[in-house]
Amino acid sequence: MIVLKTSRELALMREAGRISANALKLAGKAVEPGVTTEEIDRIARKYIESCGATPNFLHYNGFPATACISVNDEVIHGIPKKNRVLKAGDIVSIDLGAQIHGYHGDNAYTFPCGDISKEAQALLDATQESLYCAIKAAVPGGRLGDISSAVQKYVEARGYSVVREFVGHGVGASLHEDPSVPNYGTPGRGVRLLPGMTLAIEPMINAGKKEVHVLADGWTVKTNDGSLSAHFEHSVAITPDGPVILTQPD
Ligand code: MG
Repeated sequence: MIVLKTSRELALMREAGRISANALKLAGKAVEPGVTTEEIDRIARKYIESCGATPNFLHYNGFPATACISVNDEVIHGIPKKNRVLKAGDIVSIDLGAQIHGYHGDNAYTFPCGDISKEAQALLDATQESLYCAIKAAVPGGRLGDISSAVQKYVEARGYSVVREFVGHGVGASLHEDPSVPNYGTPGRGVRLLPGMTLAIEPMINAGKKEVHVLADGWTVKTNDGSLSAHFEHSVAITPDGPVILTQPD
């Protein structure tokens, strides 16, 4: 069931989104050669808790940290570790969120660590731009497939591939709500988009082939071919005036 939010609820979601976005921005500033993924996680957790909010990934289905930090060929759900030291040239996907006043924010960004290759930068640029194409399609009267196909069309035209097994989702009083928001699909198909829908749109894009697998830790998802992967996400509200990004930092 898709829950439509009132304007009062959207205001609360904006606050959860603001804290989530600030935490992500802070975490991204900490990305540099020599830093461990655990240190980045600690920075994000400290900030979220200092706002009186709760890191909503922590303990979710047993996930042990505030942020998912996925490096290079890791797609999503990487577990922060004290022995995972970042080096120049890495691309670092950080996905995190905060809950406050009963509502959730969820956002992700892939940060460059030091100087990265042209190829890596192009993947980051395309993945981020595909998210904005998808957000533009999040308008009342449209269909879910308009959002999904916007991502797919943009990245496949540039030779990249869309991960199929993991998708975006509704977000609100629960971190994951209906509907599922795939990053592939057909324009004009799927659920009709209505004001009050709140969606976490999150392209996960591989430089190589689309196939991925989960590591023995039960969480970390990697590309099968070892190619780089990028991940950008915003929580977005569909309003009568068009899409509104809820995960906006100060
Ligand atoms: Mg999400």
